[in-house]
Amino acid sequence: MADAFDLTGKIALITGASQGLGAGFAVTLARAGAKVALAARQTGKLAELQKQIEGAGGTAHAIAMDVTDAGSIRAAFDDAEAVLGPVDVLVNNAGIAIPKPFLELTEADWDAVLDTNLKGCFLAGQEAAKRMAGRHDGSTGGGSIINIASVLGLAPIGHLSSYCASKAGLIHLTKAMGLELARVGVRVNAIAPGYIETPMNSDFFHSPAGEKLIKGVPQRRLGQAEDLDGALLLLASDASRYMTGTVITVDGGFLLD
Ligand code: NAD
Repeated sequence: MADAFDLTGKIALITGASQGLGAGFAVTLARAGAKVALAARQTGKLAELQKQIEGAGGTAHAIAMDVTDAGSIRAAFDDAEAVLGPVDVLVNNAGIAIPKPFLELTEADWDAVLDTNLKGCFLAGQEAAKRMAGRHDGSTGGGSIINIASVLGLAPIGHLSSYCASKAGLIHLTKAMGLELARVGVRVNAIAPGYIETPMNSDFFHSPAGEKLIKGVPQRRLGQAEDLDGALLLLASDASRYMTGTVITVDGGFLLD
């Protein structure tokens, strides 16, 4: 089964790769054999990750990319292609949240979240799809776009309305793109993680409020970044060649409760 997830020869670009889940996705894809383009707004933050991947025998290239800027996205794909070759897998991971009660949410808050989480995935997804289209004949997995959504795009919680709306939009965009791009050899799927521990949210999840949230997860534990590896490797590899427009929930049963 391990061979089914072999990514040797594939090139993957991960947005928001400087920390958290994005950095973990890059390490996992590189370990499976992919050459990885690490995209973040500041490349300086990527040096350590690039060193870590190369130290383990992988190939990584750091590129500057702001997912809210179409010109920056185009330049990043040009850079990745020039150094590594044509991109086969895009992981649309960059995302932000602005927790606030709905009545206090400003237009600027709304725009920031939607621009990054939804428009950013449209811009990067379209740039990737234009380059992937027609490169594959349908007998292999073709190009693969993986959108990192959230269980909160399927069932909202309080004080995160803009985030929930952005992720619900991303899930529908995944399906719409999957529908249109199937004919040109590009698959588009989403992963909807539940609560996953990262350096940024670890303190919260060890607070009384965070521990209460974890008690609401049927598996009674917080997810770890590695818990997403199975879904990630499936969608990145040709093992998922007949899958498009799907959303894989990885949440310890959170949505069932
Ligand atoms: P994080 O804040 O640690 O990482 C987000 C990354 O996106 C950072 O590297 C940040 O610099 C980058 N980013 C933000 N705006 C950007 C922009 N305009 N251009 C380029 N990069 C930008 O968060 P995380 O927990 O690692 O989340 C990663 C993704 O997973 C997000 O889309 C998030 O919504 C999603 N997610 C996370 C969880 C969780 O529990 N951690 C659960 C569900 C979904």
